[in-house]
Amino acid sequence: MDTPSHGGELLRNKELQTDVNCPFCHNEETRVLDTTPDLRGGVRRRRECEHCHKRFSTYERPVTTLPLIIKQDGTREEFDREKVLRGIRIACTKRPVSADQIDKVVNGIETALKESTRQELPAWVIGDMVIENLKELDQVAYIRYASVYLPLDDVKALRDEIDRLLLEG
Ligand SMILES: [Zn+2]
Repeated sequence: MDTPSHGGELLRNKELQTDVNCPFCHNEETRVLDTTPDLRGGVRRRRECEHCHKRFSTYERPVTTLPLIIKQDGTREEFDREKVLRGIRIACTKRPVSADQIDKVVNGIETALKESTRQELPAWVIGDMVIENLKELDQVAYIRYASVYLPLDDVKALRDEIDRLLLEG
């Protein structure tokens, strides 16, 4: 009878071995000699083929699945980092916002999506996150972005926001 605490570990090792074929003789049985984690959350495994005894390494990287983005017309698409980046860059044209700052905004959004347990998210969630970030970075970029991405109902709120800014300035 299997001891449950051991069973999982054995199965995992077996999976590791059968997942990888020897690149020299294509034998399925390989032995893991050592496992080294790398800085990006992956692991490098040194292996030896049980058949020809040649050695090779494999790299495993964790794959994170981002939630699908639900567009306004109801269709779904993959999160498009470049698209978000483009939108922010346009809003920041000729503003004192560095490429590095823009990158950080997009990275933050990507991380939030990775950490989300949702399978799908409406596109406005991303728009809102961008708006919140731009609000702190640059007021003009924020208004530009918001005026393009906010639904019409919110344009009045936006006008109030502009009035508030004018009063403050
Ligand atoms: Zn081999």
